Amino acid sequence: MPDTVLDIEQLCVDKGLRLTDQRKVIAKVLSEADDHPDVEEVCARAKKIDEGISIATVYRTVRLFEEAGILERHDFRDGRSRYEPVSDEHHDHLINVENGEVIEFHNEQIERLQKMVAEELGFKLVDHRLELYGVPLKKN
Ligand SMILES: [Zn+2]
Repeated sequence: MPDTVLDIEQLCVDKGLRLTDQRKVIAKVLSEADDHPDVEEVCARAKKIDEGISIATVYRTVRLFEEAGILERHDFRDGRSRYEPVSDEHHDHLINVENGEVIEFHNEQIERLQKMVAEELGFKLVDHRLELYGVPLKKN
């Protein structure tokens, strides 16, 4: 979520991951992003800080962070994996299919309903993922 700036570098330290200077730059870019960037976008932002960072390095680093449970990967059906820091505050996503914009939301009613459905099927809900795809309503 945009209002919780996570310090990925600190999370890496907590998890015992050793960070090179380039990985620190990538961690900083990801910490500051609030728009679910893909690897190419992360790379473009990282290059502004350190020109020597390659797309291969970004790929390896985001995979490392993902495996460490620091980053969450999303597939919003545009063929690109997008990333955001794992947050304690759960949210879901609405994707504007006209321009790819990703809007975060949290709805207590949906949260309750999902739990209820799982329980009715004999399960305790431990996780879920919800993506809504929409076009803006015409205002007139
Ligand atoms: Zn999000």
